[in-house]
Amino acid sequence: MAPIIIIGAGLVGLTLAQALKKAGFEFEFYDRDSSLEERPAGWGITMHWALSALESCLPADVFRQLLSIQVNPAEGGKESDCYRFLDLETGQDKYRFPSSTHYQLNRKAFRQLLSTVLNVHWGKRFTGFNPTEDSVLVKFDDGSTVQGSMLLVVDGKNSRTKRLLVGEEKSKLNPLPVAFVGISLRLSPEKMKPFRDIHPVLWQGTHPGTGYYLFSSMLSTPQSNGSVGTDKEFYEGQFNMSWLVDRNGPLPKSPADQLARVKQAAGSDTGFFSSLRQAIMDIPDDSPMLEIRLEDWPTQDWPSIGGRVSLLGDAAHTMTMYRGEAANHGICDAARLRDELALWRDGKQSLERALHKYQMEVKSRTHDAVIMSRHACLDCHDLNSLKVDSPVFQVVGIHLKLENHNDLFD
Ligand SMILES: Cc1cc2nc3c(=O)[nH]c(=O)nc-3n(C[C@H](O)[C@H](O)[C@H](O)COP(=O)(O)OP(=O)(O)OC[C@H]3O[C@@H](n4cnc5c(N)ncnc54)[C@H](O)[C@@H]3O)c2cc1C
Repeated sequence: MAPIIIIGAGLVGLTLAQALKKAGFEFEFYDRDSSLEERPAGWGITMHWALSALESCLPADVFRQLLSIQVNPAEGGKESDCYRFLDLETGQDKYRFPSSTHYQLNRKAFRQLLSTVLNVHWGKRFTGFNPTEDSVLVKFDDGSTVQGSMLLVVDGKNSRTKRLLVGEEKSKLNPLPVAFVGISLRLSPEKMKPFRDIHPVLWQGTHPGTGYYLFSSMLSTPQSNGSVGTDKEFYEGQFNMSWLVDRNGPLPKSPADQLARVKQAAGSDTGFFSSLRQAIMDIPDDSPMLEIRLEDWPTQDWPSIGGRVSLLGDAAHTMTMYRGEAANHGICDAARLRDELALWRDGKQSLERALHKYQMEVKSRTHDAVIMSRHACLDCHDLNSLKVDSPVFQVVGIHLKLENHNDLFD
């Protein structure tokens, strides 16, 4: 039988490939980028409720290494850890909860770990497919083609495949009226201290008067990035700010103006509490800026073309990051699809039924999750109305008392 074709080596595609390899499926794996390193490190990923699914997809020795690739191995996974949502005017907690065990991972290191022993064909941009009677012909922009038993596409939020499957109109993402900018920080221990003093790994907060929202996440420490003991010790972090466009205007176009806008928001008369304000004023002018368009796509049905094609990850359910669970859902997709394909391989169901059951489960799990992330995004920008039962707080092991996953690492 022809191999399964996987398109897209992001977090979810890599997890899917690991899951299929572990279950003994033959596959070929393609990505348009020239290598794993092509795109910047990006942001921190909180792995929480999908840890068990992730474990089921990975070889045991790879899963165990999650502990060592945490952004701050010394702080990660502590039961005594807390989750802080600040009033940015006073620096006091608006909400503070004990958090359940979760792992804050550097996305780049996580992708590197997930790519262990996988063979990805890099530099292959997928352009389309033709189903045949018992297989699918997959096409790339260099003119090459490959025959597969099925096509599993994990090509991210701007998925070309989704457009091909459901059409331009139905695949359009819904823009949210929120401006979002991320700043990659690389700072000395002294300059990073005000951020780390709030919480050593991650924290959030909103200003009650202006509605500016912040999300700060550590990406590496001198211990984890290898600079410890040198005269150039540094921390890396991702510092994000967002605001309602109607209230505070659109995001400026140039990186310099974006950083100036962040500093202006922090420093106005009724700005942020003093230590945070000073830390933001000290952010170097050449810090890389990352503009993210906030858009979502509540999961809809897509045709499986007779059981030949399916979608996973952000391509299947685009959601904003305000509940930190999109990758958790994607990893669940991979585990779920692996299970359905195993039943197909064992002759217990047709391929069409396997993909149908997979898709029904994804839709029922993620459609409302996309909407909840949308509500979380909007709620975050109004501190005065932000209540403890907001979708903002129903993830990250705060409201829902999540299972303690320490036993997975014994
Ligand atoms: C700031 C931020 C913070 C976040 N925090 C969290 C968090 O804490 N927890 C959480 O669970 N989620 C979080 N997320 C969401 C998470 O990052 C995404 O859900 C996840 O990375 C999506 O993975 P993916 O594999 O579906 O897509 P992607 O990572 O987008 O990967 C898609 C891949 O497909 C490839 N590709 C695209 N088109 C083609 C083509 N035509 N041919 C070949 N290859 C193609 C791309 O090169 C890429 O490698 C966050 C997101 C952001 C932006």
